[in-house]
Amino acid sequence: MAEHSFHPPQRTLMGPGPSDVSPRVLEALARPTIGHLDPVFVEMMEEMKGLLQYAFQTRNELTFPVSAPGSAGMETCFVNLVEPGDKVIVCRNGVFGGRMKENVERCGATPVMVEDEWGKVVDPQKLEDALKANPDAKLVAFVHAETSTGAQSDARTLVELAHAHDCLALVDAVTSLGGSPLKVDEWGIDAVYSGTQKCLSAPPGLSPVSFSERAAEVIRNRKRKVQSWFLDLNLVMGYWGSGAKRAYHHTAPINNLYGLHEALVILKEEGLENAWARHEKHHQALRAGLEAMGLSFVVKEGDRLPQLNAVTLPEGIDDAAVRGRLLRDFNLEIGAGLGALAGKVWRIGLMGHACNARNVRYCLMALESVLADLGADIATGVALPAADKVLAD
Ligand SMILES: *Cc1c(COP(=O)(O)O)cnc(C)c1O
Repeated sequence: MAEHSFHPPQRTLMGPGPSDVSPRVLEALARPTIGHLDPVFVEMMEEMKGLLQYAFQTRNELTFPVSAPGSAGMETCFVNLVEPGDKVIVCRNGVFGGRMKENVERCGATPVMVEDEWGKVVDPQKLEDALKANPDAKLVAFVHAETSTGAQSDARTLVELAHAHDCLALVDAVTSLGGSPLKVDEWGIDAVYSGTQKCLSAPPGLSPVSFSERAAEVIRNRKRKVQSWFLDLNLVMGYWGSGAKRAYHHTAPINNLYGLHEALVILKEEGLENAWARHEKHHQALRAGLEAMGLSFVVKEGDRLPQLNAVTLPEGIDDAAVRGRLLRDFNLEIGAGLGALAGKVWRIGLMGHACNARNVRYCLMALESVLADLGADIATGVALPAADKVLAD
């Protein structure tokens, strides 16, 4: 029983994240580890900040990657901005809005829920009603791109409403960053967090965040200390802040930061608008193929996320059997439904590096093959031509 190295198989990742990591990023991860206070590393951190400001479309000084996955970015936003006794309006139209509620409660604050059905976008009218009914609310929190359903809410309008009622706006952009339009400064977002393993196509484990000057002011003027030592931005800023002494706070995940840096360089080379357009185009190709096959989308047209395609399972087909065969026979991972949608839908991701013509065609071909073999009631031989027609445009 000799111990041996772990060699993962070569998969194609078309689920809700992680997405395929580009060879350039994998190569960056393997570069020599240096000290996290090394001047060369500190220079890289400065560059990283600029690259993140570009990705978020912001000039916010307080922009950096939290040393932990997207969920920690979420928690960073809440624990720093919310104090016991505060009232926070949380919009929930899927899994992640529910986690926001948990965060608010654990901060000792009161959540006011604005509920929309899974697969629907956040209804601005409902938010406005909640804001009118709760003039003492401090903050509005919502998910821009609900990865659990594939719905994309109108962030600009929701932020406007929050501001019109004197609330800060906190946005989950874990799945939108790098995949669909997100304009932090233009839309006036006060606090935003994301992740690295969705449309940035870096490995998981980091959470880019950004805070407006107004949000930073709220954090500096807190009545009490942030209850989390690790996530307290007043302390983290001694390491990441501008002109900071780069004092030791925690050991940065050095190699993972090389990976994110490379992923952001790739994004900048492509251009943000081009990346958004690429996601939209390949989504349209995949949509054409899936619909030709006879599958239907969970979210109505116009509200769909290009990078996360939720489709309903054909009648009588077992979810786990299909995903198991895709993985075993095609090395292809697609996502299962979450929460209320478990067992009812698949979530097919087209994120970052994985969003390309080869993957669209490969996924359609593999899915058709498995479904036909299981006797599903689908149209065969039409998905690829339908996708190709869009890809050729
Ligand atoms: C993936 C995801 C998260 C959580 O990110 P982790 O890196 O898994 O912690 C939060 N919100 C949304 C919308 C996500 O898609």
